[in-house]
Amino acid sequence: MTKARLFTPGPTPVPEETLLELAKPVTYHRTAEQKETLKEVLEELKYVFQTQNDVIVLTASGTGGMEAAVVNTLSAGDKAILLTAGRWGERWRGILKAYQANLVVVEMPYGKAVPPAALEQALKEHPDTVAVFSTLSETSTGVVHDIQAYGKIVASTPSLLIVDSISGLGACECRTDAWGIDINVTGSQKALMMPPGLAYVAVSPKAWRVIEGKPNRRAFYFDLKRYQAKLAENDTPYTPANTLIKAQKLSLKRIRQEGIENLWSRHALMGAMARAGVQAMGLQLFSETPNNGLTVITVPEGIDGNAILSKLEKKHGYKLANGQDNLKGKIWRLSHMGYCDPFDLIGALSALEYVLLEAGYPCSAGASVAAAQKVLSTKLV
Ligand SMILES: *Cc1c(COP(=O)(O)O)cnc(C)c1O
Repeated sequence: MTKARLFTPGPTPVPEETLLELAKPVTYHRTAEQKETLKEVLEELKYVFQTQNDVIVLTASGTGGMEAAVVNTLSAGDKAILLTAGRWGERWRGILKAYQANLVVVEMPYGKAVPPAALEQALKEHPDTVAVFSTLSETSTGVVHDIQAYGKIVASTPSLLIVDSISGLGACECRTDAWGIDINVTGSQKALMMPPGLAYVAVSPKAWRVIEGKPNRRAFYFDLKRYQAKLAENDTPYTPANTLIKAQKLSLKRIRQEGIENLWSRHALMGAMARAGVQAMGLQLFSETPNNGLTVITVPEGIDGNAILSKLEKKHGYKLANGQDNLKGKIWRLSHMGYCDPFDLIGALSALEYVLLEAGYPCSAGASVAAAQKVLSTKLV
């Protein structure tokens, strides 16, 4: 018998009460109840974003929110600084190219973070930059970026700071207003404990001014002004994924009950446990600046990375993520964000260690679990 356990960095497990909400009959969307629900969800999202800014709900996966950030702020030929150190930075590049941005790229090898000094230098050389595009948690490598430092650099310039926090928000500390993030994009299916389908975009007054200065922007479904105009009535311009919004309300309630600081420290604890557990197996972390939402592990010499993942899933029900593109077979990505607790994580470390032992990898049985448990136990004193 195998029991399915999801440890991929999106989608992630969904709490029972949220799943039950999703099982309810579909309702009409232009009602007072739906408006009330959207109002409450927007309140709770502002709490998770740590913002007083407008939050827009889009029926789209995370990439839709990213595309919205690009099409509303840039005209063809506008200058944009792209900070990229992984596949999700490359997603920004793809969108920016599609909309013919004049790109200045600051690039780091996979596994490293883009240093704030590199952004400072690029902005100095390109003071006509309209927006800087960055990634909080680079899910392809497990890196966390110093968004707070980027914010300090960008705040004193006319440029906007635009952040993909799709796998970061709700796992890594992120303070939209205090850190000066002008557009913050996230999605429902990572740390917000929901299935895929909704993108959330927080827009600052500075960003609205830039958007309003682009009356000829080429956007329709993703025209953020259309959504903003409906916000006053807690409504959306097009049919929203109303069943998902109702379900999101329940998962957000969990975050409110836990409290955002506690939520960050739970993820910090699990991040520390995962890193200790992985290193106790003699494995290397892929990221130089690992984040707390997921841990990315370098596949050791002589081990077939794909075979290990397949065995973990087929024999033991543990679904971890492979590397993407040319990192396939070279790294394992273990998520511990959202609806995941320290003991879930210990189970995953135990399973990984078990499968590695079976493959003849020299580690000592239980060492990983002990190391993780030790980190957890520091919470007791
Ligand atoms: C998952 C993820 C996305 C994803 O977008 P989808 O369109 O929802 O597949 C974008 N950026 C990051 C950092 C992610 O982790």
